Amino acid sequence: MEPDSVKYIFVTGGVTSSLGKGIVASSLGMLLQARGHSVTIQKLDPYLNVDPGTLNPYEHGECYVTEDGAETDLDLGHYERFLNRPTSQANSVTTGRIYQSVIEKERRGDYLGKTVQVVPHITNEIKRRIKLLGSSGEYDIIITEIGGTVGDIESLPFIESVRQMTWDLGEKNSMVIHLTLVPYLASSGELKTKPTQHSVRLLMESGIRADVLVARTEYRLPKDVKEKLALFCNVKKGNVIECKDAGSIYEVPLMLHEQKFDEVVLKTLDLPFDKEPDLNNWNNFVDKFQNPSHQLEIALVGKYVSLQDSYKSITEALVHAGASTDTGIKIRWVYSGEVTAQTVDSLLGGVDGILIAPGFGDRGVLGKIISANYARRKKIPTFGICLGMQVMVIEFARNVLGLKDADTTEIHGQTTHPVINLMEGQKNITSKGGTMRLGNWKCQIQKGSKAYEIYGNELIQERHRHRYEFNNDYLDDFEKSNFCAVGKNPDTGLVEIMEHKELPFYMGVQFHPEYKSTVVKPHPFFVKFVEAALLQKQNKKIHATGKKAGQ
Ligand code: GLN
Repeated sequence: MEPDSVKYIFVTGGVTSSLGKGIVASSLGMLLQARGHSVTIQKLDPYLNVDPGTLNPYEHGECYVTEDGAETDLDLGHYERFLNRPTSQANSVTTGRIYQSVIEKERRGDYLGKTVQVVPHITNEIKRRIKLLGSSGEYDIIITEIGGTVGDIESLPFIESVRQMTWDLGEKNSMVIHLTLVPYLASSGELKTKPTQHSVRLLMESGIRADVLVARTEYRLPKDVKEKLALFCNVKKGNVIECKDAGSIYEVPLMLHEQKFDEVVLKTLDLPFDKEPDLNNWNNFVDKFQNPSHQLEIALVGKYVSLQDSYKSITEALVHAGASTDTGIKIRWVYSGEVTAQTVDSLLGGVDGILIAPGFGDRGVLGKIISANYARRKKIPTFGICLGMQVMVIEFARNVLGLKDADTTEIHGQTTHPVINLMEGQKNITSKGGTMRLGNWKCQIQKGSKAYEIYGNELIQERHRHRYEFNNDYLDDFEKSNFCAVGKNPDTGLVEIMEHKELPFYMGVQFHPEYKSTVVKPHPFFVKFVEAALLQKQNKKIHATGKKAGQ
């Protein structure tokens, strides 16, 4: 697509945060893609961190990692899961990154003689970043989600950039979708439009007219409420789209499509809308997800479980794997800080599978080690991701290899058995931002292993986000005891996948497969984990009935 004919859609939010702009943008992207357009979605975040990599997950939920190693907002995960298309560093821009590049240019002398100001220097840099995706020639529609809420001081430069871009591009080449809240007042039994009117007015004060309103609501919006919103917010009558609370995020695109959301957008952008989108796959997925034949309970052992968004990609990857195996998955959230030798049985007893989550720092690590031990002894299908794999290794070293103080040097720098160690290249790094092993790295898989069965391929690539690695000095000892490195980086020899040869499914991966799972392509590692848990559950049942019959 010629850069000049690319269409730009901006999604802003009003009234409150957390309305789900990311899901609305992803749903729209998916619907437009299903009509044959090539779409990508970008997020502009108004905070000063250069990227969210240094944020605690409690602050901002999971940090999502792209193929090219960008540490990004979790909304990028939704974009990839809905569109089944990788994003990149260019899809994630923060105020911090904008200022960083403007200040670097200033120091270099690019603006020599000029006063560097928010307008035009910051706004020009924002516009340049927005247009960057359009100039790649890969996409015909770019959706840009503006983080934060209209009226926030910190989003002003983004809003001003959107104003300038819509002015530059003209009506049929750009549009603004405003997502707001229509609250229900139980005392008067009414849906209130006033907050939306105020937020649209705020947008207008910044020179932006919303073309479409998407109204988040707990209840259906009656026709008169929609008309009132249209009249007082100055949008066309059919351009008020209701977005009622849904049972799952995957129902949202279907709900929006029913109200002709994609058609309204195409009309606004002067694009053809006669051909209906092909939503067969999506409908099948939602149907399987809502009406599964089997049920499983999987424990997710982690330290950030009180904010479930911290594990967004993992829980979504389980949803994808569940739908593809006709299985409903109930997650038992287990706070690793509470797992002790005394509590482990009551916290993990009865689950069909255990997922040991990634993480940083020492809090809750002992609980994860105890969970790995419980899982191994009870032969429960277990999947460890990143720190999850590392604790499986530590547990095995301590309890099978007899290396009593085996540890990761992240927690115990002086251990005599550093089975998980800082890689050489990391030893002199002091700066925290963007310095881990990040993004796609190759992994060579041993033929005949379970991992090979999972991937059906000898050479794969998976995304990483960590500093510490399996210490290969100990590999022989592990392999002699049947915990084997069946996946390694072909260039560096770093261990990527550990697999227990005698247990039904006891596997740890140093990378993050969850980032790659999408609705269309559930990740095979999660699928096999769920299948192993299903098999174990069936065997247990057969065993229990056999026992009863034998009594
Ligand atoms: N803290 C560990 C490391 O840096 C694991 C990281 C993770 O689980 N993402 O190696």
